[in-house]
Parts: sequence; structure tokens; C-alpha cells
Amino acid sequence: MIVNNSLDEVKKRDNALSIIRNAVENEGRSSLFDLTGLSGGFIANHSELSLLETYVGPAIFEENLQEVGINHMGGDKVIPLNRTSSGILATILALVNEGSNVVHYLAELPAHPSIPRSCELVGANYYETDKFEDFSIPPNTSLVVVTGSTMDHKVIDESEFKKVIEMAHEKDIPVMVDDASGARLRTVIFNQAKACDLGADIAITSTDKLMPGPRGGLMAGREDLIDKIKVKVNQFGLEAQPPAVLAMLNGIKNFSKDDLIRGFERKEELFDLLNKNFDNFEKTPTGVMISPKGLSQEINVKHNLSDNDLAFVFSFILLRDYGIITIPPVSMPGASTTIRFDLSTQDAFKLNLNDLNKKIESSFKKLQDVVSNEDECREIVFSF
Ligand SMILES: *Cc1c(COP(=O)(O)O)cnc(C)c1O
Repeated sequence: MIVNNSLDEVKKRDNALSIIRNAVENEGRSSLFDLTGLSGGFIANHSELSLLETYVGPAIFEENLQEVGINHMGGDKVIPLNRTSSGILATILALVNEGSNVVHYLAELPAHPSIPRSCELVGANYYETDKFEDFSIPPNTSLVVVTGSTMDHKVIDESEFKKVIEMAHEKDIPVMVDDASGARLRTVIFNQAKACDLGADIAITSTDKLMPGPRGGLMAGREDLIDKIKVKVNQFGLEAQPPAVLAMLNGIKNFSKDDLIRGFERKEELFDLLNKNFDNFEKTPTGVMISPKGLSQEINVKHNLSDNDLAFVFSFILLRDYGIITIPPVSMPGASTTIRFDLSTQDAFKLNLNDLNKKIESSFKKLQDVVSNEDECREIVFSF
């Protein structure tokens, strides 16, 4: 075993960061390809950065965000938040009373944990279902929740989406939409309308998902509700701070539908190329992935490594030899060791898919060559 515990995981991450630092110092940032899909982004120029003061920043950037944010999300008004989870919490604090019911419809369980946790915090009864036939709104319901696209990118059917909103509005109950990735995935890839245009009262998106923005949340919706929620947002410190607001603004301005469509189309091509040599790659909506178990099934030489160790050694070879960043080398302790290649980010567009396929193939050959030599594998992961 190579990576045995959390301390080992911290050490492998330090090694990954030092490989990345060396690459940036010696060959420049362009020698790296971040395919994690979580690369975030902070687009800003010098004159904007000089305005990042506690009160000047929000005065300028929050005002600009109104127009840009409403254009992206619909609704009458937007508020920038620290995270999507913060927006969900603030909405539930503002609109849901103790003892009332909250019902949630989504395309596939599980829901994001911030929704049930926030309900628990206010003492509301929470019900969720992914079966449309089972969805109903009981008496004493204070909020109806809809998830536009789940954490695994399962997208809701638009006609069901509209029906849930109709059912809620017949009873005068507000609808909050968790549209973390959905605000872009649903509208661009599945040609659906914006949640607010479908009648949602509140919709929240994550500004680092499928767009070049920072981790953060952007909430849009009905002005009266947004004002009410904003009180909770400010009381509990859930708002986005000026640097994040600036980066959100520029992230949305730089969001390109065409890039997203291109990313989604290219994944089929990469999947087909990989399938000529591998049996265990799987598609994700934004790219391809291989699980540790899948990787282990590809190996046809004798070795004593665990499946997780194989994933670490393989992903470290990709990083060391080709500058390809995937999650396992850089992740925090306990994270999944599935190796995802996300094709929707800027770095992915700089890669020719034939080249990427060859780099993956050649890294795999190197993995097969070293896998029976545990000391060498340890050196690849820890560099000692
Ligand atoms: C990512 C995600 C969230 C949470 O976003 P944070 O910015 O991490 O709070 C909520 N709901 C869904 C469906 C998500 O995919």
C-alpha cells in the first residue's frame, strides 16, 4: 500500500503542488492542463482590482452585477452569495416556519445536503422525491423546491418543472430552484428556459460550475422575496465579498455557450478514442472518467497495489509527464479517487483530443511498467 492514511494524502498533495509549481516556474502556466472541472477562475484587470475595498467594491460591482446577473438568470433582482448553499440556507431561514412542510422534486436523488440540513435547522418537515407521480403538496407547506440539474448532472424534464411550479402557485406557495449547474446545463445543452422565466420565485446558481467564475452563489428572483432573503443573508454573513463579486461579474461576462456545447460534443469523440484501447472509461455530462476499480481491471500485470493506489500512481504520471491535472493528486484527504477528465474548461480546449488520448494511453503504459515495483510507485506519488 502506498497511500494509507490522511497524512499520506496530505503528503501526496504537497508533492502534486510542488510538481505544479515547478511546471509553472520552469515552463509557464501554459504547460499545465487543469481538467478537474473545478478550476474556478478569477478574471479581473488591474483597475478593477484597485477598487476592491470594503465599501467601494460592492458599490461598483454589485450594481454592475444586477444587469449581468439578471441577464444570466432572469428575475427582477439578484444577490451574490458566498456559496449556493448559503443562498439555500438564507431562503429557508427567510421563508420557512418551524413545523411547516418543505417539498422537493428532483430528477434523481440525492438532493444537495444543504437543503435538508437547512430545513432541519429551522425545524421544518422535509420531503423529497424523484418520482413525479409521487410528488404532492400537503397542507401547511411553506416552500416548494425544485432542483434543475442534480450534483451528478441529471436534468429535470421541463414539462414536469412547469407542472410543479403550477401546483405550487395554485396554492400561493413560493418555489425555490437549486440551479447550481442547471442554470447553464439545462438552458444551453437541453434548451430549457431560465428558471425565473418558467415562473420560479427564487433561483440560485453556483458561479464556478460550467463557467469561469469563483466558488460562489448567485440568487435571482422576485424583488419582494429577494429583499426579505437579503436581510438574512446580511444578518448571517452569507453574502459574497467584493473580490468574489468582481470575479462573478467577469465570470458571467466570459461565460460562453459555444464553449459549453463544444465541451459536451468533444466528450463523445474522446470517449470513442479511449474505447479503442480501454474498456472501463465512462462518460460524464462534461467529459469522461475512470474509477479506481475500472482502472484496476485494465491492468494485466501482477502487482500488490490497491485500486486507490493505482489511481494515484496513474494520475501522478499524467501530471508529472504531461501536466494534466486531475482531482486525485491535488485533492484533500478522503476525496474520491475517480479520475475525471472534464472537457468543459478553458484548458481542455487547448488540448487536441488525439493528443490527449495518446497522453492517457502512454501514461497507462508507464503505469503498467512500474506497477510491480512498489518503491518506484511510491517515488512517483511522494517523490521520495
Ligand atoms: C454544487 C451544488 C450545490 C452547492 O454549491 P456550493 O457552492 O458548494 O454551495 C447545490 N446544489 C447542487 C445541485 C449542486 O450541484
